[in-house]
Amino acid sequence: MPTADFARRLIAWHDRHGRHDLPWQRGRNPYRVWVSEIMLQQTQVATVVPYYERFMARFPSIAALATATLDEVLHLWTGLGYYARARNLHRAAQLLHREHAGAFPADIAAVVALPGVGRSTGAAILALANDQHHAILDGNVKRVLARYHAVEGAVDERTTRERLWELAELHTPEKRVATYTQAIMDLGATVCTRAKPRCGECPVRTQCRAFVEQRVATLPAPRRAKAARRTRHVWMLLARQVNGRVLLRQRPASGIWGGLWCLPEFESLEALRNYVGARLQIASERTQAPLESFRHSFTHYDLMITPCPVSCAGALPTVCEEGGIVWYDPGSPAQLGLPAPIKALIARNRPT
Ligand code: SF4
Repeated sequence: MPTADFARRLIAWHDRHGRHDLPWQRGRNPYRVWVSEIMLQQTQVATVVPYYERFMARFPSIAALATATLDEVLHLWTGLGYYARARNLHRAAQLLHREHAGAFPADIAAVVALPGVGRSTGAAILALANDQHHAILDGNVKRVLARYHAVEGAVDERTTRERLWELAELHTPEKRVATYTQAIMDLGATVCTRAKPRCGECPVRTQCRAFVEQRVATLPAPRRAKAARRTRHVWMLLARQVNGRVLLRQRPASGIWGGLWCLPEFESLEALRNYVGARLQIASERTQAPLESFRHSFTHYDLMITPCPVSCAGALPTVCEEGGIVWYDPGSPAQLGLPAPIKALIARNRPT
């Protein structure tokens, strides 16, 4: 199939069957598209929509985001996961506010220099928002092109990726780039899906090599097997005052749940008990038995968490530690970002 025909068919298909009513498609501008592209990384559209609406209502511009506190940004991100995305978004907004007078750059090199923006994301922002001629290659597009051209090799291998970039460039049209970009992303997300693709509804099936050669189920080739998952075990202190407030400690800016507020975490039960004895000067404290452990999965490993409740009765406990500590009131929560499983843990262990 001539390359122009591939783009033409996708654009015609998108005009009739594509998604046109997503919140970031309204009042489209680079900032709105940027936030949506970051939220959509590793996350389904249906999950993103309510987060996006809340985020844009609070931060309608780069200036609004840049001048907010990181706590407020993380608070609105709570539950969406992959918090490095929120931290990078905030840092990039501050940089644009400071160095570009709050304007989003139109130059691809300046866009991919922003924290958290890679080649494909940067290209998608400029293509979707400004109709600029840039090819994208996200996970969905990789799958479509690998099947359409019957590209051998796993998509995470360097040579396969280079070949797919060449094909992505080849197919990107000169005109209607925004529609084409949305079309190929939508095709991958809704028709050329990883499991059970709906080839009967695909506008390019007659020229798709995987379809014609009946290789859809085996393309693209599976990624290399990952190393066995690791499990890390931690103990978390669930210290609660008589007024219901819970002790939270802010996590370091980098690493898992970076910058979020969390129950103090320890490598052993002994370390936790030492902390309680040394740092919480409690008039009368009651250390209860640890609660049942639960597992939380990250991309590369599992965290096994054992919550250890401590009731602080009598005089208010004093925390002898510099900064990064709050007594958090779950009944009237401050605008802080908490990891979703920790928020849920606090909620389900409220005193009756
Ligand atoms: Fe994907 Fe099937 Fe379309 Fe080929 S025909 S691009 S495998 S949906």
